[in-house]
Amino acid sequence: MLQPWTLLPSPPAVAGHAAGAAAVQRQHRRRLRGAIGDDTNFRRWRQGVFGFGAGGVHRLTAHRPAAILRRGGRSVEVKLARTAGFCMGVRLAMDKALALAAQGRGPVYTLGPLIHNPQAIGMLEAHGVRELKGAPDALPGADSGRPGTVVIRAHGVPEQVKDQLRARGLEVVDGTCPHVLAAQRHIARHAAEGYTIVIAGDKDHAEVEGLRSHAGGRCIVVSTVEEAQAAEVVEPACLVAQTTFNEETYELIAAALRRRLARLEVVQTICRATRDRQEETLRLAHDPEVEAMVVVGGLHSANTRRLAELSRAAGKPTFHVETAADLDPQALWGFRVVGLTAGASTPNWVTHAVLQALEDIHRPAPLAQALGWRALAALTRSNVFSAAAAVALTYAAAQLLGIRDPSPVFLLSAFCYVFAVTTLNRLALGDAPERLLPPRVAFYHRHARPLAAASALFALGSLSSLVLMGNWLATALMALGYALGVAYAVRLVPARLSRLVRFARLKDLPASKDLFVALGYLVVCVLVPWLSQGGRGRPALAIAAAFAFILTFLKANVVDMGDMEQDRLLGRETLPILLGSARTRRLLTALAVVLAIVLAAGAALGWTPSLAWLLLACPASLIVYLWHRHDFPTAPDVVAALAADGAMLLAGLLALGWRALALG
Ligand code: SF4
Repeated sequence: MLQPWTLLPSPPAVAGHAAGAAAVQRQHRRRLRGAIGDDTNFRRWRQGVFGFGAGGVHRLTAHRPAAILRRGGRSVEVKLARTAGFCMGVRLAMDKALALAAQGRGPVYTLGPLIHNPQAIGMLEAHGVRELKGAPDALPGADSGRPGTVVIRAHGVPEQVKDQLRARGLEVVDGTCPHVLAAQRHIARHAAEGYTIVIAGDKDHAEVEGLRSHAGGRCIVVSTVEEAQAAEVVEPACLVAQTTFNEETYELIAAALRRRLARLEVVQTICRATRDRQEETLRLAHDPEVEAMVVVGGLHSANTRRLAELSRAAGKPTFHVETAADLDPQALWGFRVVGLTAGASTPNWVTHAVLQALEDIHRPAPLAQALGWRALAALTRSNVFSAAAAVALTYAAAQLLGIRDPSPVFLLSAFCYVFAVTTLNRLALGDAPERLLPPRVAFYHRHARPLAAASALFALGSLSSLVLMGNWLATALMALGYALGVAYAVRLVPARLSRLVRFARLKDLPASKDLFVALGYLVVCVLVPWLSQGGRGRPALAIAAAFAFILTFLKANVVDMGDMEQDRLLGRETLPILLGSARTRRLLTALAVVLAIVLAAGAALGWTPSLAWLLLACPASLIVYLWHRHDFPTAPDVVAALAADGAMLLAGLLALGWRALALG
């Protein structure tokens, strides 16, 4: 048997000369092709080397000879499926469970796992939502003192189970997905009209059990065409599908039954979310550019496993992973384009962590570009980028206020404030174990002490600088800003009173985060410099204040729109969570237009310098991003931060340019 790694020289490892290394890599690849035949053979050879036969689904664990698998600094493109992530049904059920837990009215349970994803389950447990295992009549009941509430998961359950739960004194909150409810209604109606119900699905799946309970006595479950051909079906019959059933198989089953039955009604119950994910996975897997597929999601999740099966059937090497930790860099070496998709039960922060890990495995060449991207990603995922953006905003606001040469103390104070307060708030996020936290939050928890120490130093430094300037009013205002930042994150109501008061912290107030963020920026970037310079020019103050407040409110919400899933899991009720993504986008667009009008009015009325005209580019850039954000599927959190904080950086750059021109 051909053992290429024993016969061929290995590719060079990444070194300082990445471009050269990439060229040698290409040469090496050509030599390999020459040695082992055409591209098809090359693929076959690679499949042999990496341990997967054509189309096999593998969990990434294998380790291969390092000589041939050493990384070569090659570029990779990750094609991320737009449909990856929670579907509507899972999201609704999660929302219900988390909202009940936040109300603190008693124990909250789910009957079986609410979602087939260990990371999301872990996060639910951290919020006190526990899974009940066993038959309903063996569960704790009213006699246990605090029976609590049971959330029915998206798959639904047989009606008798709900009755049994209620009989035990448990409150039942139905988290059954609306699509599953619709399928149940179809079945109940046809069963009442005397139809035999044929369900295409997995006999042992909880959803199918629930569907059967609505079918009365005449119900048959089939999962293959052969079973459909062999089934004894009494006419008239009605065919429905488990909502996550494979669409092609369903059509084949329907065709097989139609050939045998004159009176057959076929109902389309496969949900759009499932179809969209399956279609997009197939599109990616059939994309000739895509060389391998990574499917993210619970290993026991039926819909995720189905995506992996489809990808395998399309002939692509497919890796089903639960988290980024399951990725094996060695196994993924050599693929230039990787398709990435995720099941309907996979939180998007888990998918983003896998995306990030894939990028880390395959660094874009040349090295300078790779380092540039990694530095950018690290900056945006830390507070440094936001803090630098605050400096830029302060400079732009100072120009609007007519402060031509703002003191460096104000600029540094803005940096220190944003760094310290954002760090504090991230550290106060989530009481869950670190492994369950989204990567950005986990980073802060991992480095909590040095980050907290740096924040305290920054806060002390900025306050002392203002004291040394002798401006007590500005110092008091800055101290108030810090106090607000601290008060926002810490518990104001003792834990023992939390049953009486729902909002124990300011951050528990729905949609409060973005308002507090905007208020903080307003104080630090506008009011402190304005007071320090004698508090002159009220009309200019109004325009500068509106500019800073609205721009930072927009920035905070742009970031929140990308963090909706993790915010839900962390129990944060941001504006996008309250309004939904589409309405938030419309609201933010309207606010950006208002900001543009305010700036234009300020400039036209002569209340502010002509810089205000240039600053129209800031709300415009955010509007463009809001309506095109899905065009940037790679590293969405980095792109969102670039767009959000980038609008503030843009303001600073425009102000610098305008000032330079004015001086010239
Ligand atoms: S996959 Fe479809 S049917 Fe199933 S929970 Fe999600 S939205 Fe509902």
